Amino acid sequence: MKYLRKSMVPLVVGAVTVLLLGFAIGIEAKAGAGIEKEAWGTVDGKPVDLYTLTNANGLEAKITNYGGIVVSLEVLDRNGKLGDVVLGYDNLKGYVENNPYFGAIVGRYGNRIGAAKFSLDGVEYTLAANNGPNHLHGGIKGFDKVVWKARGVTSDNGVGLELSYLSPDGEEGYPGNLSVTVVYTLTDDNELKIDYFAMTDKKTVVNLTHHSYFNFVGSGDILGHKLWLKASRFTPVDEGLIPTGELRSVIGTPMDFTRPVAIGARIEQDTQQLRYGFGYDHNWVLDKRLGEMALAGSLYEPATGRFMEIYTTEPGIQFYSGNFLDGTITGKRGIIYEFRNGLCLETQHFPDSPNKPDFPSTVLKPGEEYRTTTIYKFSVR
Ligand code: BGC
Repeated sequence: MKYLRKSMVPLVVGAVTVLLLGFAIGIEAKAGAGIEKEAWGTVDGKPVDLYTLTNANGLEAKITNYGGIVVSLEVLDRNGKLGDVVLGYDNLKGYVENNPYFGAIVGRYGNRIGAAKFSLDGVEYTLAANNGPNHLHGGIKGFDKVVWKARGVTSDNGVGLELSYLSPDGEEGYPGNLSVTVVYTLTDDNELKIDYFAMTDKKTVVNLTHHSYFNFVGSGDILGHKLWLKASRFTPVDEGLIPTGELRSVIGTPMDFTRPVAIGARIEQDTQQLRYGFGYDHNWVLDKRLGEMALAGSLYEPATGRFMEIYTTEPGIQFYSGNFLDGTITGKRGIIYEFRNGLCLETQHFPDSPNKPDFPSTVLKPGEEYRTTTIYKFSVR
């Protein structure tokens, strides 16, 4: 893990300002790049902190070690104004009481595993059925609900937060002690970069992702956001949103985002796939080589000019159009999150891969290192 050996930056607690490697680090982080930490409460008797990462251009990410949640992400609009582009809560209580995975690290297996079961070497493992008969996002207490160890790190081009968690053998039904590290870096190229690492001591399955709900205006529906996905196929699903195993062409269907198109343009078309998802809630098969770091898609909001590109080493991306938001959550700044007020772009291996031998494998063996990277890069158009 070459990345993690790079020079460490001490965290600044309180009002101390430290100058290190040319970065001004401290409570005046707004004025320059750095990281600061504040106490945010406790969960399971463990202290939880809120870290503020600021890059050289003033972009700011607030991240907590509870669930590895990105609490806010402030990026520029075309008039040079910063604004928060992710959904969430103002305080820890909101996340602990009711979080539909806002901003979280999702694991051990992001997305669904059919019938909450899979087999490895003839041994069947049973997971929590927390989504009808299926398993979703790592189970009842997935990685989005645990307290991670955290420390500030820096690289040549940004300021980061390294989070680590040891998921014990048998946790949520998964085999093997899994040691997980996730590094968020806010780079001076205006990227939120996420590096995921994991090692196991017993054969297991791993599929880590990030679950920010984006809204580039900050409120209202996301139907006017224009999405482009470099994907000519997707994985059609059954009623329970489990892939059938087919890789189906998007051409001539509302799943076709091979050219940028407003999310709302075809979302109400009466097709079986859109009915099953209550809108978009599907995995797209990215047009690239397995493991290759490549541009996967982009999101553009015409009124603010905010533009985001997604780069990933992963083979797939779940585009979820916030169809289960229903106005029952009041989030940050008192904003009520109504139907389709946020959208997720979750880079991943395909859902139900442990039961789909033809999908790229999510099996991790002892001695191997799980390593993936995803970048959300912000600019304006
Ligand atoms: C899934 C949705 C699910 C949501 C939970 C998404 O990743 O695709 O089906 O309802 O997470 O917030």
